[in-house]
Amino acid sequence: MALLQIAEPGKSAAPHQRRIAVGIDLGTTNSLVAAVRSGVSEVLADEQGRFLLPSIVHYNEDGGVELGYNAAEKANQDPLNTIASAKRLMGKGFDEVAQMQAYELVSGPSQLAAFRTRAGDKTPLEIAAEILKSLVNRAEQSLGDEVNGAVITVPAYFDDTQRQATKDAATLAGINVLRLLNEPTAAAVAYGLDHQASGIHAIYDLGGGTFDISILNLSKGVFEVLATGGDTALGGDDFDLLIVQWIASQADYENLNVQQHRYVSAVAKAAKESLAEAATVNVELNEFGLQWQGELTRDQMNELIDPVIRRTLRACKKTLRDSGVDVSGIEQVVMVGGSTRVLSVRDQVGALFQSEPLVSIDPDRVVAMGAAIQADILIGNRPDSEMLLLDVLPLSLGIETVGGLSEKIIPRNTTLPVSRAQEFTTYQDGQVMMSIHVLQGEREMVQDCRSLAKFTLKDIPPAVAGAAKIRVAFQVDADGLLTVSAQELTTQKTTQVEVKPSFGLEEVEIRRMLQESFANAAEDAAARALREIQVDGQRLLDALDAAIAEDGKLLSESETLSLQTEMDALRVLVAGEQKTDLERAIAHLNKSSEAFAAARMNASIEVALTGKSIDSLE
Ligand code: ADP
Ligand code: MG
Repeated sequence: MALLQIAEPGKSAAPHQRRIAVGIDLGTTNSLVAAVRSGVSEVLADEQGRFLLPSIVHYNEDGGVELGYNAAEKANQDPLNTIASAKRLMGKGFDEVAQMQAYELVSGPSQLAAFRTRAGDKTPLEIAAEILKSLVNRAEQSLGDEVNGAVITVPAYFDDTQRQATKDAATLAGINVLRLLNEPTAAAVAYGLDHQASGIHAIYDLGGGTFDISILNLSKGVFEVLATGGDTALGGDDFDLLIVQWIASQADYENLNVQQHRYVSAVAKAAKESLAEAATVNVELNEFGLQWQGELTRDQMNELIDPVIRRTLRACKKTLRDSGVDVSGIEQVVMVGGSTRVLSVRDQVGALFQSEPLVSIDPDRVVAMGAAIQADILIGNRPDSEMLLLDVLPLSLGIETVGGLSEKIIPRNTTLPVSRAQEFTTYQDGQVMMSIHVLQGEREMVQDCRSLAKFTLKDIPPAVAGAAKIRVAFQVDADGLLTVSAQELTTQKTTQVEVKPSFGLEEVEIRRMLQESFANAAEDAAARALREIQVDGQRLLDALDAAIAEDGKLLSESETLSLQTEMDALRVLVAGEQKTDLERAIAHLNKSSEAFAAARMNASIEVALTGKSIDSLE
């Protein structure tokens, strides 16, 4: 008979306390919340059993706020106070998006774009906070407990500013953010691809108004983003529009007014969604003065929307080229986003990647489900053995060095969190200040990168060029957010900045920057090499100018003349682009100034030795 085990009083293990953590897919069109229950990740429904929350916020007349489906109903009668797709403007400056004409946009706090509504000016961050709050409320209702933390997903190409804005939105909503996670990574996690040893996967995400394709490489438990691509203005809305045009031509409606157009769009969208299951669908118009009835078959629809699908395929091919991976190198392609329910999309994507796409998990829910799995691990509900997925830095971080070059301190795709430091030195004799310019991007030249922040390190003890040692440390937390500090090592004086970046780029621009960096790698390397030699040349000229000013008397007139002539020639070359000539001239001037350098050395030793006895030198 087995002995009963009796614990010492007070030492018995408390029943395991599960903490609640959720995964949130904060989408452009729809948002969702998921949680792991009894080991299974599931999306949580609202009281009416609906899983999606349309990412729409309506500010109504009595000062209240409506969300989701309720807000969507107001779009027609109160468009300016009904904000949809705010994610497109997340972390964007007013100047960048002023041309978006669907709303009245204004320049809000710190030049951020904001929507002018009857409830005041609302930044995309505040809109996102409303959506996040509503999702967390839903989770608390549904789980019957308080939510302790959340993993929120963001597109893989989101930069520091956009990630920061997302995190700020969560803070505003009172949510403890455990981690921001890339959307494609979350989808891969939902399929358990992170449990495989290694492999390259494609994540095809076609939503309502955006298309994203990501090539991920899994190795040593880390998903590295090999390339991202897509189109920020391509998605299910384009399918709807083509179907609207078809209906209008079938019904002989030439000019639909705004209200009629919205109505026909809704009908078209419903027809499209039905055709994922049915082979034909009845289309009926009977409102806003429209009367028509017809039939749309799946084949007809496929033909209508084919040009849009082909555009996504072209973007896939381009992104594959950027990633340097051949189609045969892709193990699996994961389907994400409501629009991948269209069967023709699945077929064509499968044909392109020469493999059956992964569709067993609902493409609307897959991102939120993956985020919930990560949230459950991060909050500590899983055994330690469970692998925690790490994310990577989306774009390289660096600082500007002399000559307008970007010195990369942390390369793109480095696993997060990370901290790296590098030592820099002064460029000029007696330099007491150094300005640190933090950059993000892949290109070699400063003007091709995004400027994140600038700050100045003061009170460097004056010394000869190259003597001071300044340590610049970059720290990126698990969410991809950056802190930079600089320290002068002899005085230990530290200057620290939290990088609150200037509002800069559109996603498309980030993609363009990435693509350009691949396309221009060779050109950039050449430009960098030239610039470095120009800096060397200038440094030599500055040093000689200073030496001649101080010790010119050690040179004969003809020596001075010949040195000056050579220096003038070098000055011309430093301003030009003839790299080999420049290198040759630097080497030559180094050689011809050797005697002068030696004479200066001797003179200074003589000065030092004058009047000293031999003894004192020992
Ligand atoms: P986002 O990630 O941009 O928030 P979603 O992934 O939620 O977007 O996708 C929304 C889009 O999916 C809409 O255009 C919607 O019409 C489309 N969609 C949803 N269900 C279906 C379906 N059964 N067939 C075709 N399209 C669908
Ligand atoms: Mg999405």
